[in-house]
Amino acid sequence: MRQRYRVFALGLILVLLLSIAGCQSSTLQQEKPQSKVEETDVVVIGAGGAGLAAAVSAAENGAKVIVLEKMPMVGGNTIRSGGAYNAVDPERQKKQGIEDSIEKHFQQTLEGGDYKAKPELVRVLVENALDGLHWLESMGMKFKDEVYTVLGALWPRSHSPADNDAGFSYIETLRKAAEEKGVKILVETKAEELIMENGRVVGVKATNAEGEELIFKARKGVVLATGGFAANVEMRMKYNENLGPEIPTTNHPGATGDGIVMAEKVGANLIGMEYIQLLPMGDPEDGSLTGWLAPGVEQMIFVNKEGKRFVAEDARRDVMTNALFKQPDALMYVISDHKSFPKGKTSFNEDPNDLIAKGKVIKADTIEELARKINVPPENLKATVEKYNKAVEQNKDEEFGKKLLGFKIDTPPFYASARKPTVHHTMGGVEIDTKARVIGKDGKPIPGLYAAGEVTGGIHGANRLGGNALADVIVFGRIAGESAAKGE
Ligand SMILES: Cc1cc2nc3c(=O)[nH]c(=O)nc-3n(C[C@H](O)[C@H](O)[C@H](O)COP(=O)(O)OP(=O)(O)OC[C@H]3O[C@@H](n4cnc5c(N)ncnc54)[C@H](O)[C@@H]3O)c2cc1C
Repeated sequence: MRQRYRVFALGLILVLLLSIAGCQSSTLQQEKPQSKVEETDVVVIGAGGAGLAAAVSAAENGAKVIVLEKMPMVGGNTIRSGGAYNAVDPERQKKQGIEDSIEKHFQQTLEGGDYKAKPELVRVLVENALDGLHWLESMGMKFKDEVYTVLGALWPRSHSPADNDAGFSYIETLRKAAEEKGVKILVETKAEELIMENGRVVGVKATNAEGEELIFKARKGVVLATGGFAANVEMRMKYNENLGPEIPTTNHPGATGDGIVMAEKVGANLIGMEYIQLLPMGDPEDGSLTGWLAPGVEQMIFVNKEGKRFVAEDARRDVMTNALFKQPDALMYVISDHKSFPKGKTSFNEDPNDLIAKGKVIKADTIEELARKINVPPENLKATVEKYNKAVEQNKDEEFGKKLLGFKIDTPPFYASARKPTVHHTMGGVEIDTKARVIGKDGKPIPGLYAAGEVTGGIHGANRLGGNALADVIVFGRIAGESAAKGE
Protein backbone atom coordinates (compact mmCIF):
# COMPACT_ATOMS: atom_id res chain seq x y z
CA MET A 1 0.00 0.00 0.00
CA ARG A 2 2.78 2.35 1.10
CA GLN A 3 4.73 1.37 -2.07
CA ARG A 4 1.71 2.15 -4.32
CA TYR A 5 1.28 5.52 -2.58
CA ARG A 6 4.95 6.39 -3.16
CA VAL A 7 4.67 5.64 -6.91
CA PHE A 8 1.50 7.72 -7.13
CA ALA A 9 3.14 10.65 -5.30
CA LEU A 10 6.21 10.53 -7.55
CA GLY A 11 3.99 10.42 -10.63
CA LEU A 12 2.04 13.43 -9.38
CA ILE A 13 5.25 15.42 -8.77
CA LEU A 14 6.49 14.51 -12.26
CA VAL A 15 3.23 15.61 -13.88
CA LEU A 16 3.35 18.84 -11.91
CA LEU A 17 6.96 19.52 -12.91
CA LEU A 18 6.21 18.77 -16.55
CA SER A 19 3.16 20.99 -16.56
CA ILE A 20 5.11 23.86 -14.93
CA ALA A 21 7.89 23.44 -17.54
CA GLY A 22 5.33 23.30 -20.34
CA CYS A 23 3.59 26.34 -18.98
CA GLN A 24 6.89 28.23 -18.77
CA SER A 25 7.93 27.30 -22.27
CA SER A 26 4.58 28.34 -23.68
CA THR A 27 4.88 31.67 -21.78
CA LEU A 28 8.37 32.10 -23.29
CA GLN A 29 7.07 31.32 -26.75
CA GLN A 30 4.40 33.96 -26.46
CA GLU A 31 6.75 36.66 -25.14
CA LYS A 32 8.82 38.77 -27.57
CA PRO A 33 12.48 38.23 -26.76
CA GLN A 34 13.88 41.11 -24.73
CA SER A 35 16.19 43.51 -26.64
CA LYS A 36 19.73 43.45 -25.41
CA VAL A 37 20.60 46.84 -23.97
CA GLU A 38 24.07 48.36 -23.73
CA GLU A 39 24.94 51.78 -22.40
CA THR A 40 27.90 54.01 -23.23
CA ASP A 41 28.77 57.71 -23.56
CA VAL A 42 28.91 58.05 -27.37
CA VAL A 43 27.48 55.78 -30.06
CA VAL A 44 28.95 56.22 -33.54
CA ILE A 45 27.04 54.80 -36.51
CA GLY A 46 29.36 53.75 -39.35
CA ALA A 47 32.97 52.58 -39.25
CA GLY A 48 34.31 54.45 -42.28
CA GLY A 49 36.75 57.35 -42.10
CA ALA A 50 34.38 59.83 -40.45
CA GLY A 51 33.03 57.31 -37.92
CA LEU A 52 36.44 56.06 -36.84
CA ALA A 53 37.83 59.61 -36.67
CA ALA A 54 34.84 60.58 -34.49
CA ALA A 55 35.35 57.51 -32.30
CA VAL A 56 39.06 58.26 -31.73
CA SER A 57 38.33 61.92 -31.05
CA ALA A 58 35.47 61.15 -28.63
CA ALA A 59 37.73 58.70 -26.77
CA GLU A 60 40.51 61.33 -26.68
CA ASN A 61 37.98 63.58 -24.99
CA GLY A 62 37.30 61.05 -22.28
CA ALA A 63 34.21 59.29 -23.65
CA LYS A 64 33.42 55.59 -23.71
CA VAL A 65 32.54 54.78 -27.30
CA ILE A 66 30.75 52.06 -29.26
CA VAL A 67 30.88 52.02 -33.07
CA LEU A 68 28.17 50.19 -35.03
CA GLU A 69 29.00 48.96 -38.53
CA LYS A 70 26.45 47.13 -40.66
CA MET A 71 28.91 45.48 -43.03
CA PRO A 72 31.09 42.49 -42.07
CA MET A 73 34.16 44.72 -42.25
CA VAL A 74 35.08 48.28 -41.34
CA GLY A 75 36.12 50.86 -43.94
CA GLY A 76 33.14 51.88 -46.10
CA ASN A 77 34.05 54.03 -49.08
CA THR A 78 37.07 55.35 -47.23
CA ILE A 79 38.94 52.07 -47.48
CA ARG A 80 38.36 51.87 -51.24
CA SER A 81 39.27 55.51 -51.85
CA GLY A 82 42.33 56.67 -53.75
CA GLY A 83 43.66 58.23 -50.54
CA ALA A 84 44.09 61.79 -51.91
CA TYR A 85 43.80 64.34 -49.11
CA ASN A 86 43.78 68.09 -49.83
CA ALA A 87 45.49 70.47 -47.46
CA VAL A 88 47.47 73.65 -47.87
CA ASP A 89 50.86 72.50 -46.67
CA PRO A 90 53.60 75.15 -46.96
CA GLU A 91 56.32 72.76 -45.82
CA ARG A 92 55.72 70.27 -48.63
CA GLN A 93 54.46 72.68 -51.30
CA LYS A 94 57.39 75.14 -50.98
CA LYS A 95 59.85 72.37 -51.87
CA GLN A 96 57.98 71.90 -55.16
CA GLY A 97 57.70 75.64 -55.81
CA ILE A 98 53.89 75.56 -55.45
CA GLU A 99 52.24 78.78 -54.37
CA ASP A 100 49.08 78.22 -52.30
CA SER A 101 47.06 79.66 -49.43
CA ILE A 102 44.12 78.82 -47.17
CA GLU A 103 42.21 81.61 -48.92
CA LYS A 104 42.83 80.01 -52.31
CA HIS A 105 41.64 76.59 -51.08
CA PHE A 106 38.57 78.31 -49.57
CA GLN A 107 37.75 80.19 -52.79
CA GLN A 108 38.33 77.19 -55.07
CA THR A 109 36.12 74.98 -52.89
CA LEU A 110 33.30 77.51 -52.78
CA GLU A 111 33.53 78.48 -56.46
CA GLY A 112 34.08 74.85 -57.57
CA GLY A 113 30.79 74.01 -55.81
CA ASP A 114 28.93 76.91 -57.44
CA TYR A 115 28.72 78.75 -54.10
CA LYS A 116 26.14 76.23 -52.86
CA ALA A 117 28.21 75.17 -49.84
CA LYS A 118 27.87 76.83 -46.42
CA PRO A 119 30.91 79.16 -46.30
CA GLU A 120 31.39 78.71 -42.54
CA LEU A 121 31.74 74.93 -43.04
CA VAL A 122 34.17 75.40 -45.94
CA ARG A 123 36.19 77.73 -43.69
CA VAL A 124 36.41 75.02 -40.99
CA LEU A 125 37.41 72.45 -43.62
CA VAL A 126 40.27 74.41 -45.20
CA GLU A 127 41.60 75.84 -41.93
CA ASN A 128 41.76 72.45 -40.20
CA ALA A 129 42.75 70.15 -43.07
CA LEU A 130 46.50 70.31 -42.39
CA ASP A 131 45.98 69.83 -38.66
CA GLY A 132 43.85 66.77 -39.48
CA LEU A 133 46.68 65.38 -41.60
CA HIS A 134 49.17 65.99 -38.77
CA TRP A 135 46.73 64.24 -36.39
CA LEU A 136 46.83 61.16 -38.64
CA GLU A 137 50.64 61.40 -38.75
CA SER A 138 50.71 61.54 -34.95
CA MET A 139 48.95 58.15 -34.97
CA GLY A 140 51.65 56.71 -37.22
CA MET A 141 50.25 57.29 -40.72
CA LYS A 142 52.83 58.37 -43.29
CA PHE A 143 52.27 60.61 -46.30
CA LYS A 144 54.51 61.17 -49.32
CA ASP A 145 56.67 64.30 -49.38
CA GLU A 146 55.37 65.37 -52.79
CA VAL A 147 51.87 66.72 -53.32
CA TYR A 148 50.01 66.40 -56.63
CA THR A 149 46.68 67.29 -58.26
CA VAL A 150 44.17 64.47 -58.01
CA LEU A 151 41.45 64.57 -60.67
CA GLY A 152 39.15 67.54 -60.09
CA ALA A 153 41.24 68.98 -57.22
CA LEU A 154 41.93 72.13 -59.28
CA TRP A 155 45.28 72.71 -57.51
CA PRO A 156 48.37 70.70 -56.48
CA ARG A 157 47.64 70.20 -52.79
CA SER A 158 46.62 66.52 -52.78
CA HIS A 159 48.59 64.31 -50.37
CA SER A 160 48.77 60.56 -50.74
CA PRO A 161 49.76 57.82 -48.30
CA ALA A 162 53.47 57.00 -48.43
CA ASP A 163 52.96 53.28 -48.89
CA ASN A 164 50.53 53.68 -51.83
CA ASP A 165 47.88 51.68 -50.05
CA ALA A 166 45.27 54.33 -50.73
CA GLY A 167 42.30 54.33 -48.34
CA PHE A 168 43.51 51.30 -46.40
CA SER A 169 46.08 53.21 -44.33
CA TYR A 170 43.48 55.76 -43.16
CA ILE A 171 41.24 52.99 -41.86
CA GLU A 172 44.03 50.90 -40.37
CA THR A 173 45.53 53.93 -38.60
CA LEU A 174 42.18 55.01 -37.15
CA ARG A 175 41.01 51.48 -36.31
CA LYS A 176 44.18 50.74 -34.36
CA ALA A 177 44.04 54.09 -32.54
CA ALA A 178 40.37 53.51 -31.69
CA GLU A 179 41.01 50.03 -30.32
CA GLU A 180 44.01 51.26 -28.30
CA LYS A 181 41.70 53.80 -26.71
CA GLY A 182 39.19 51.15 -25.74
CA VAL A 183 36.60 51.88 -28.43
CA LYS A 184 34.32 48.90 -29.07
CA ILE A 185 33.64 48.27 -32.77
CA LEU A 186 30.74 45.96 -33.65
CA VAL A 187 30.48 44.77 -37.24
CA GLU A 188 27.34 43.23 -38.78
CA THR A 189 25.36 45.56 -36.52
CA LYS A 190 22.97 47.71 -38.48
CA ALA A 191 21.51 50.88 -36.98
CA GLU A 192 17.80 50.99 -37.75
CA GLU A 193 16.42 53.92 -35.81
CA LEU A 194 17.44 56.81 -33.57
CA ILE A 195 15.83 56.78 -30.13
CA MET A 196 14.37 60.13 -29.05
CA GLU A 197 13.37 61.06 -25.53
CA ASN A 198 12.00 64.51 -24.69
CA GLY A 199 13.39 66.00 -27.90
CA ARG A 200 16.88 64.54 -27.42
CA VAL A 201 18.57 61.67 -29.27
CA VAL A 202 19.50 59.22 -26.51
CA GLY A 203 20.40 56.07 -28.37
CA VAL A 204 20.11 53.76 -31.34
CA LYS A 205 18.01 50.71 -32.18
CA ALA A 206 20.01 48.22 -34.20
CA THR A 207 19.89 44.64 -35.44
CA ASN A 208 22.66 42.08 -35.51
CA ALA A 209 23.41 39.38 -38.11
CA GLU A 210 20.89 37.05 -36.43
CA GLY A 211 18.15 39.66 -36.74
CA GLU A 212 18.05 40.28 -32.97
CA GLU A 213 17.18 43.76 -31.80
CA LEU A 214 19.84 45.59 -29.85
CA ILE A 215 19.51 48.88 -28.00
CA PHE A 216 22.51 51.14 -27.55
CA LYS A 217 21.93 53.94 -25.09
CA ALA A 218 24.16 57.01 -25.44
CA ARG A 219 24.61 59.13 -22.32
CA LYS A 220 26.25 61.99 -24.26
CA GLY A 221 25.47 61.72 -27.95
CA VAL A 222 25.09 59.79 -31.19
CA VAL A 223 27.32 60.48 -34.21
CA LEU A 224 25.94 59.67 -37.64
CA ALA A 225 28.77 58.67 -40.00
CA THR A 226 26.97 56.36 -42.40
CA GLY A 227 28.37 57.80 -45.64
CA GLY A 228 26.50 58.72 -48.82
CA PHE A 229 23.88 57.08 -51.05
CA ALA A 230 25.51 56.62 -54.48
CA ALA A 231 24.86 52.85 -54.29
CA ASN A 232 21.12 53.34 -53.65
CA VAL A 233 19.66 53.71 -57.16
CA GLU A 234 16.13 54.42 -55.92
CA MET A 235 17.30 57.16 -53.59
CA ARG A 236 19.61 58.81 -56.09
CA MET A 237 16.80 58.76 -58.70
CA LYS A 238 14.51 60.47 -56.20
CA TYR A 239 16.87 63.44 -56.38
CA ASN A 240 18.13 63.08 -59.97
CA GLU A 241 16.00 60.93 -62.25
CA ASN A 242 18.81 60.64 -64.83
CA LEU A 243 20.90 58.46 -62.52
CA GLY A 244 19.22 55.11 -63.18
CA PRO A 245 20.61 51.60 -62.80
CA GLU A 246 22.35 51.76 -66.17
CA ILE A 247 24.96 54.09 -64.66
CA PRO A 248 27.32 52.17 -62.39
CA THR A 249 28.93 53.47 -59.20
CA THR A 250 32.37 53.58 -57.66
CA ASN A 251 30.85 53.07 -54.21
CA HIS A 252 30.73 50.10 -51.83
CA PRO A 253 27.33 48.37 -51.59
CA GLY A 254 26.65 49.76 -48.10
CA ALA A 255 26.50 53.37 -49.36
CA THR A 256 22.70 53.41 -49.21
CA GLY A 257 21.94 56.62 -47.31
CA ASP A 258 20.60 54.95 -44.13
CA GLY A 259 21.79 57.78 -41.89
CA ILE A 260 20.00 60.38 -43.96
CA VAL A 261 16.72 58.46 -43.65
CA MET A 262 17.14 57.93 -39.89
CA ALA A 263 18.03 61.59 -39.32
CA GLU A 264 15.12 62.85 -41.39
CA LYS A 265 12.74 60.80 -39.22
CA VAL A 266 13.86 62.75 -36.13
CA GLY A 267 13.45 66.10 -37.86
CA ALA A 268 16.88 66.76 -39.39
CA ASN A 269 17.11 69.26 -42.22
CA LEU A 270 18.55 67.90 -45.49
CA ILE A 271 20.49 70.13 -47.87
CA GLY A 272 21.87 69.80 -51.39
CA MET A 273 20.36 66.34 -51.98
CA GLU A 274 20.22 66.95 -55.75
CA TYR A 275 24.00 67.47 -55.97
CA ILE A 276 25.31 64.06 -57.00
CA GLN A 277 28.78 63.79 -58.47
CA LEU A 278 29.74 61.57 -61.39
CA LEU A 279 33.30 60.93 -62.48
CA PRO A 280 34.49 60.32 -66.03
CA MET A 281 36.80 57.64 -64.61
CA GLY A 282 34.73 54.47 -64.27
CA ASP A 283 35.98 51.10 -65.41
CA PRO A 284 33.73 50.24 -68.40
CA GLU A 285 33.00 46.79 -66.90
CA ASP A 286 32.00 47.67 -63.34
CA GLY A 287 32.16 51.45 -62.87
CA SER A 288 34.90 51.13 -60.25
CA LEU A 289 37.83 53.52 -60.02
CA THR A 290 40.37 50.73 -60.29
CA GLY A 291 41.90 49.33 -63.47
CA TRP A 292 44.01 52.26 -64.68
CA LEU A 293 47.37 53.81 -63.86
CA ALA A 294 45.77 56.85 -62.15
CA PRO A 295 48.42 59.43 -63.07
CA GLY A 296 48.11 63.04 -61.84
CA VAL A 297 46.12 65.62 -63.79
CA GLU A 298 49.36 67.10 -65.21
CA GLN A 299 50.46 63.77 -66.65
CA MET A 300 47.58 62.63 -68.86
CA ILE A 301 45.15 63.51 -71.61
CA PHE A 302 41.68 62.19 -72.41
CA VAL A 303 40.72 61.23 -75.98
CA ASN A 304 37.44 59.97 -77.39
CA LYS A 305 36.97 57.02 -79.78
CA GLU A 306 38.08 59.30 -82.62
CA GLY A 307 41.41 59.93 -80.89
CA LYS A 308 40.54 63.57 -80.16
CA ARG A 309 40.68 65.54 -76.92
CA PHE A 310 37.33 66.98 -75.85
CA VAL A 311 37.84 68.73 -72.48
CA ALA A 312 40.52 70.25 -70.23
CA GLU A 313 41.77 67.43 -68.04
CA ASP A 314 42.16 69.80 -65.07
CA ALA A 315 38.52 70.94 -65.20
CA ARG A 316 35.84 70.37 -62.59
CA ARG A 317 34.57 66.80 -62.33
CA ASP A 318 31.06 67.72 -63.46
CA VAL A 319 32.41 69.61 -66.49
CA MET A 320 34.56 66.63 -67.54
CA THR A 321 31.77 64.08 -67.03
CA ASN A 322 29.21 66.17 -68.94
CA ALA A 323 31.68 66.52 -71.80
CA LEU A 324 32.25 62.74 -71.79
CA PHE A 325 28.51 62.02 -72.01
CA LYS A 326 28.54 63.89 -75.35
CA GLN A 327 31.28 61.68 -76.88
CA PRO A 328 30.56 58.54 -78.94
CA ASP A 329 29.39 55.76 -76.56
CA ALA A 330 30.34 58.08 -73.67
CA LEU A 331 33.71 56.32 -73.70
CA MET A 332 37.20 57.78 -73.48
CA TYR A 333 40.80 56.67 -73.19
CA VAL A 334 43.27 58.09 -70.69
CA ILE A 335 46.65 58.43 -72.41
CA SER A 336 49.92 58.76 -70.49
CA ASP A 337 53.60 57.90 -70.98
CA HIS A 338 56.55 56.28 -69.25
CA LYS A 339 57.28 59.31 -67.03
CA SER A 340 54.20 58.80 -64.90
CA PHE A 341 54.26 54.99 -64.84
CA PRO A 342 53.87 54.07 -61.13
CA LYS A 343 57.12 53.07 -59.45
CA GLY A 344 55.39 50.60 -57.16
CA LYS A 345 51.62 50.22 -56.90
CA THR A 346 49.08 52.63 -58.45
CA SER A 347 47.26 55.00 -56.10
CA PHE A 348 44.48 52.39 -56.01
CA ASN A 349 46.95 49.86 -54.67
CA GLU A 350 47.13 47.84 -57.89
CA ASP A 351 50.18 46.34 -59.59
CA PRO A 352 50.55 48.24 -62.89
CA ASN A 353 52.11 45.26 -64.66
CA ASP A 354 49.20 43.14 -63.57
CA LEU A 355 46.83 45.68 -65.13
CA ILE A 356 48.76 45.41 -68.40
CA ALA A 357 48.62 41.61 -68.25
CA LYS A 358 44.84 41.76 -67.68
CA GLY A 359 44.38 44.13 -70.64
CA LYS A 360 43.03 46.95 -68.43
CA VAL A 361 46.04 49.05 -69.40
CA ILE A 362 47.20 48.92 -73.02
CA LYS A 363 50.92 49.44 -73.61
CA ALA A 364 52.70 50.35 -76.87
CA ASP A 365 56.06 51.71 -78.03
CA THR A 366 54.61 54.35 -80.34
CA ILE A 367 51.47 56.49 -80.31
CA GLU A 368 50.37 54.97 -83.64
CA GLU A 369 50.72 51.43 -82.29
CA LEU A 370 48.77 52.44 -79.16
CA ALA A 371 46.03 53.89 -81.39
CA ARG A 372 45.78 50.66 -83.39
CA LYS A 373 45.58 48.60 -80.20
CA ILE A 374 42.69 50.66 -78.81
CA ASN A 375 41.04 50.97 -82.20
CA VAL A 376 41.15 54.74 -82.69
CA PRO A 377 42.41 56.36 -85.94
CA PRO A 378 46.25 56.47 -85.57
CA GLU A 379 46.65 59.71 -87.54
CA ASN A 380 44.15 61.43 -85.22
CA LEU A 381 45.81 60.29 -82.00
CA LYS A 382 49.25 61.24 -83.34
CA ALA A 383 48.00 64.73 -84.28
CA THR A 384 46.26 65.11 -80.90
CA VAL A 385 49.38 64.21 -78.90
CA GLU A 386 51.59 66.50 -81.07
CA LYS A 387 49.21 69.40 -80.57
CA TYR A 388 49.05 68.77 -76.82
CA ASN A 389 52.85 68.61 -76.53
CA LYS A 390 53.07 71.96 -78.31
CA ALA A 391 50.58 73.43 -75.83
CA VAL A 392 52.80 72.17 -72.97
CA GLU A 393 55.87 73.76 -74.64
CA GLN A 394 54.09 77.09 -75.01
CA ASN A 395 52.33 76.71 -71.65
CA LYS A 396 49.06 77.55 -73.37
CA ASP A 397 46.27 75.16 -74.30
CA GLU A 398 44.37 77.19 -76.87
CA GLU A 399 41.91 74.37 -77.62
CA PHE A 400 40.53 73.61 -74.14
CA GLY A 401 42.26 76.00 -71.73
CA LYS A 402 43.97 73.38 -69.54
CA LYS A 403 46.16 75.24 -67.04
CA LEU A 404 47.94 72.44 -65.21
CA LEU A 405 50.08 71.56 -68.22
CA GLY A 406 52.82 69.58 -66.58
CA PHE A 407 54.42 67.07 -68.90
CA LYS A 408 54.57 66.29 -72.58
CA ILE A 409 53.42 62.85 -73.64
CA ASP A 410 56.64 61.98 -75.46
CA THR A 411 58.49 59.17 -73.68
CA PRO A 412 57.74 55.58 -74.66
CA PRO A 413 56.20 53.26 -73.73
CA PHE A 414 52.77 54.88 -73.96
CA TYR A 415 49.67 53.72 -72.07
CA ALA A 416 45.90 53.84 -72.56
CA SER A 417 42.87 52.80 -70.47
CA ALA A 418 39.19 52.96 -71.39
CA ARG A 419 36.90 54.88 -68.97
CA LYS A 420 33.17 55.69 -68.66
CA PRO A 421 30.97 57.90 -66.45
CA THR A 422 30.18 56.51 -63.01
CA VAL A 423 28.26 57.81 -59.96
CA HIS A 424 30.80 58.73 -57.32
CA HIS A 425 29.79 61.04 -54.48
CA THR A 426 26.64 62.47 -52.94
CA MET A 427 27.30 66.02 -51.81
CA GLY A 428 23.95 66.50 -50.10
CA GLY A 429 22.80 65.17 -46.75
CA VAL A 430 22.13 66.13 -43.18
CA GLU A 431 22.75 69.80 -42.38
CA ILE A 432 25.32 70.44 -39.66
CA ASP A 433 26.87 73.49 -38.01
CA THR A 434 30.55 74.17 -37.38
CA LYS A 435 30.43 71.95 -34.26
CA ALA A 436 29.04 69.07 -36.38
CA ARG A 437 25.69 69.29 -34.59
CA VAL A 438 22.78 68.15 -36.74
CA ILE A 439 20.41 71.00 -37.56
CA GLY A 440 16.66 70.43 -37.44
CA LYS A 441 14.03 71.77 -39.78
CA ASP A 442 13.45 74.58 -37.25
CA GLY A 443 17.05 75.73 -37.78
CA LYS A 444 18.16 74.65 -34.29
CA PRO A 445 20.57 71.83 -33.35
CA ILE A 446 18.88 68.53 -32.46
CA PRO A 447 20.19 67.78 -28.95
CA GLY A 448 22.36 64.67 -28.79
CA LEU A 449 22.80 64.24 -32.56
CA TYR A 450 26.02 64.91 -34.50
CA ALA A 451 27.13 63.99 -38.02
CA ALA A 452 30.26 63.91 -40.15
CA GLY A 453 31.46 62.76 -43.57
CA GLU A 454 29.45 61.99 -46.68
CA VAL A 455 26.19 61.69 -44.71
CA THR A 456 26.30 65.49 -44.32
CA GLY A 457 25.49 68.23 -46.83
CA GLY A 458 26.66 71.81 -47.26
CA ILE A 459 30.41 71.23 -47.30
CA HIS A 460 31.06 70.73 -51.01
CA GLY A 461 28.15 72.51 -52.67
CA ALA A 462 27.12 71.45 -56.17
CA ASN A 463 30.45 69.83 -57.10
CA ARG A 464 33.13 68.39 -54.81
CA LEU A 465 36.81 69.06 -55.44
CA GLY A 466 38.74 65.80 -55.77
CA GLY A 467 40.68 65.21 -52.53
CA ASN A 468 38.39 67.37 -50.37
CA ALA A 469 36.26 64.46 -49.09
CA LEU A 470 38.96 62.74 -47.05
CA ALA A 471 39.88 66.09 -45.51
CA ASP A 472 36.16 66.59 -44.73
CA VAL A 473 35.88 63.14 -43.16
CA ILE A 474 38.87 63.68 -40.85
CA VAL A 475 38.20 67.33 -39.96
CA PHE A 476 34.47 66.96 -39.26
CA GLY A 477 34.78 63.42 -37.85
CA ARG A 478 37.20 64.78 -35.30
CA ILE A 479 34.92 67.72 -34.44
CA ALA A 480 31.82 65.49 -34.18
CA GLY A 481 33.59 63.14 -31.77
CA GLU A 482 34.73 66.00 -29.57
CA SER A 483 31.34 67.73 -29.59
CA ALA A 484 29.55 64.47 -28.72
CA ALA A 485 31.99 63.65 -25.92
CA LYS A 486 31.51 67.10 -24.42
CA GLY A 487 27.76 66.92 -24.98
CA GLU A 488 27.90 70.32 -26.74
C1 LIG B 1 36.45 54.51 -55.19
C2 LIG B 1 36.47 55.80 -54.43
C3 LIG B 1 37.61 56.58 -54.43
C4 LIG B 1 37.65 57.78 -53.72
N1 LIG B 1 38.82 58.48 -53.67
C5 LIG B 1 38.86 59.62 -52.94
C6 LIG B 1 40.10 60.32 -52.78
O1 LIG B 1 41.16 59.90 -53.26
N2 LIG B 1 40.07 61.48 -52.06
C7 LIG B 1 38.93 61.97 -51.48
O2 LIG B 1 38.97 63.03 -50.86
N3 LIG B 1 37.76 61.30 -51.60
C8 LIG B 1 37.71 60.13 -52.28
N4 LIG B 1 36.53 59.45 -52.36
C9 LIG B 1 35.39 59.90 -51.55
C10 LIG B 1 35.62 59.52 -50.09
O3 LIG B 1 36.33 58.32 -50.04
C11 LIG B 1 34.30 59.38 -49.34
O4 LIG B 1 33.52 60.52 -49.50
C12 LIG B 1 34.59 59.18 -47.85
O5 LIG B 1 35.49 58.12 -47.66
C13 LIG B 1 33.31 58.93 -47.08
O6 LIG B 1 33.66 58.64 -45.76
P1 LIG B 1 32.52 58.40 -44.69
O7 LIG B 1 33.21 57.99 -43.45
O8 LIG B 1 31.60 59.54 -44.67
O9 LIG B 1 31.70 57.17 -45.28
P2 LIG B 1 32.20 55.69 -45.51
O10 LIG B 1 33.67 55.59 -45.53
O11 LIG B 1 31.46 55.16 -46.67
O12 LIG B 1 31.71 54.95 -44.18
C14 LIG B 1 30.35 54.84 -43.85
C15 LIG B 1 30.16 53.53 -43.10
O13 LIG B 1 28.87 53.50 -42.51
C16 LIG B 1 28.35 52.18 -42.64
N5 LIG B 1 26.89 52.22 -42.52
C17 LIG B 1 26.00 52.73 -43.43
N6 LIG B 1 24.75 52.57 -42.97
C18 LIG B 1 24.85 51.98 -41.74
C19 LIG B 1 23.89 51.55 -40.77
N7 LIG B 1 22.57 51.67 -40.95
N8 LIG B 1 24.34 50.98 -39.61
C20 LIG B 1 25.68 50.80 -39.40
N9 LIG B 1 26.62 51.17 -40.32
C21 LIG B 1 26.21 51.76 -41.46
C22 LIG B 1 28.84 51.76 -44.02
O14 LIG B 1 28.77 50.38 -44.19
C23 LIG B 1 30.26 52.32 -44.02
O15 LIG B 1 31.19 51.41 -43.50
C24 LIG B 1 36.49 58.23 -53.04
C25 LIG B 1 35.33 57.46 -53.04
C26 LIG B 1 35.32 56.25 -53.71
C27 LIG B 1 34.07 55.41 -53.69
